[in-house]
This record gives sequence, structure tokens and C-alpha cells, in this order.
Amino acid sequence: MTQRGLSLLLDSLTHAEQDPEVRALTAAFGGDPVEVRERLIGAPAVRSRRMLFASGGEIILHDDAVVEVLLHVVPQSPKQQGVDLAEWLPGAGNDATLDDLNAAIGTRRGFAGIGTPWFAVDGAFVRADFRDRRGWNEPGNLESLAITVEQPGLVCAPDDDDCPRCADLLIRWDASEEVDVEATDQALRSARDAGDLKEDLHWVPLDDLRMLHGSGLMTRVESQLTCRSCRRVICFALQRDGAPSFTYCSVNDARRHPLEEIPPVERWGSPERQAAAHAAMQYVDHSPGAWFLVRQGERLYLDARYSYSALIDTSALIELDASERESYRRGGHTYLGELAYRIHMSGPYQEESPYYARDLYRGGGDPGRDYRSEVSAAIVNHTWLAQQRSQQG
Ligand SMILES: [Zn+2]
Repeated sequence: MTQRGLSLLLDSLTHAEQDPEVRALTAAFGGDPVEVRERLIGAPAVRSRRMLFASGGEIILHDDAVVEVLLHVVPQSPKQQGVDLAEWLPGAGNDATLDDLNAAIGTRRGFAGIGTPWFAVDGAFVRADFRDRRGWNEPGNLESLAITVEQPGLVCAPDDDDCPRCADLLIRWDASEEVDVEATDQALRSARDAGDLKEDLHWVPLDDLRMLHGSGLMTRVESQLTCRSCRRVICFALQRDGAPSFTYCSVNDARRHPLEEIPPVERWGSPERQAAAHAAMQYVDHSPGAWFLVRQGERLYLDARYSYSALIDTSALIELDASERESYRRGGHTYLGELAYRIHMSGPYQEESPYYARDLYRGGGDPGRDYRSEVSAAIVNHTWLAQQRSQQG
């Protein structure tokens, strides 16, 4: 009988398909795969190869190096059956709970986000996937174990390579690995408009990306959009002196990308784009880490950050009323600091606060408006994220 166990899975990581470590694993999985899927991911392109075995095993390679091995308790294809987990992890059956896995693996446990437990084992990681990313205290919810090179949550999971919502949005010129920028831009916009992707307005809006790039005013322009299924962040960047890049990132990596200050719209926008910018909210002033003042026409809005213990750290958006506007006219920047402090101290997350009902982020104001997105777009050059980016860029 073939020797199975966690070490056989771990030993295969980072090896090529023809290496003895991977051939040994393939043999333990029962020989030839019943299904092989290949695709190019991103630009610069990485070749993803997934081999699904009848026994419930799966091997994923990136550019011919194993990056992940999966044991599927729940079969992924009609040609596959579920693994017998006890063969690979003595002491744990297919109905293992998280505590059972903990006892069987016996190493440090961590969580990627709320619903993704993992264990650190010999410099690699064992991720446990439970149904709907919960229910790990009841038997029968375990779907798979994934053995990965990288710590879950810090980089994208290779098993998301085929995400049905976001895997086919990079369009290449026929028979080449090069990005068709116009077609890719279109595909991303369609996916965003269909609700498959959420655009992050701390970056260049997708609608401005090619216009800004075409102006030559920035060396690098980047849009970021998050997939609503797999949560990977698509980072699409156009460079003045280089090829476009299209990468799938974790939130952690995506926010570390450099972004230069976006030049004033008058220098690069079409007449329509300039008109839209003038009608939209515009940045007026801010105090780092505390508040932003934006205006729209004659109206003034204060985005005031507030926190409560370690659980709440967010902001409220208040339109200044007549007396506050008058105080601002007299007191300027200092007055806004005092007002933001008053908002924070009132605990605007509770109904007793006079600012609770005025908080436009709570759904007041014009229905259908996404105030948070509008403010994000207005302050893009001034957020702490922008400061962090310009320091690194
Ligand atoms: Zn996705």
C-alpha cells in the first residue's frame, strides 16, 4: 500500500511536475489526473496548471512549481470522489471539526480574515475550508484541506485561479501574452457595472485610467477592483514607459502599490469629465487622521473620524448647517477640529448622539447616492493611504 501522510504533501511544494517528490504524490493520488485545467494568469503572465485526481487530490502549479495541494472531502468533479482524510491525517476523519484538526495537526493555528482557519506546519500552511466559511464546530462541514506555500490571507489562494467571476477579465491579443488594454478596460467596466467587481476609489477610477495614461502626466496609473466572489483585488496598471500590468493581489499587497498624485482634471480630462468633476464633491481641507472637509457647489460636508474601543474605527459625514457654516467662516481649520472632536465624543454610532441622524453614511441624504464613494474620490490625493503610497513610490 502506498505510504500517505501530511509529509508527502508538504514535500511536493515548490517542486516541478517531473521531480520525484511530485511524482511520488501523483502516484499516491492514484496516477494520472482525471482532469487538467491550464490558463495564463495576469500580466506578466503566470501559467497555472491544475491537476484533479480521482482520489480527491488536486495539485496546482504556477510556472511548473507546486504552489498548492488540496485534499477534497467534497468532490470537485463528477470524475472525482472525496478523499479518505484519515489516510493523510491520522486521527482526523472526513467529518473533522476544527478542534479535531487542531488535535491531529497539533501546531499553531491562525485565521485569515474571519472564516479561514489555518495551521503553520514545517514552514508551509494547512488551510481548512469549511462550508460557507463557518460551521467548524459541527461535524460534516469540512470541504477541503489546502496545503500552501504562502500564508493564507497574505497572498491570493491559487485555488482562486479559476474564479468564475474574475478569471477571464484580462483580454490578450490573439496568440500572444500581451494585454489588449482597450478590451481589458471594457471587460473590467462590464464586470464592475454588473456588480461582480467593486471599484476602490482610493485609486484612479477605471473611467479615468486610459485618459490619464494618455495624458502622459503620470509615470504609472493604477485602478483597483475587488472581486465579490473570491475577494482578490485586481490591480490594473498602465505605465508611461513600460508594458501594462494586471495582477491579482491580497488586500494587504494591493494597498502597498505606489501611486503618484493625480494631476488636476483640467490638465487631462475631456470637457465632459471636467464638468463632471466640478459638479462632484471636491476636497477643501483636512487634518491627518481626524477629518476631511469637502464641498459640492455651496454645500460643505465634514467627514469626521470616530472610534470606540478597538471595535469601531470609522467616520461620519455631516453636512454643515447654517450656524456651523458661520462658525467655520470665523474659526476655519481650528473650528473644524473642534467640531470633529465633538462628533467623536458624542458617540455618533448611537441614536442618542445628535449626529447619529445627520450622518449621511448611515443612509440619510439623497437616496441612491453613495456618499462614501463620492468622498473617497474627492479626497484620493489626501488620504493617509496616499501619503503612505507617495512615500513608498
Ligand atoms: Zn474572483
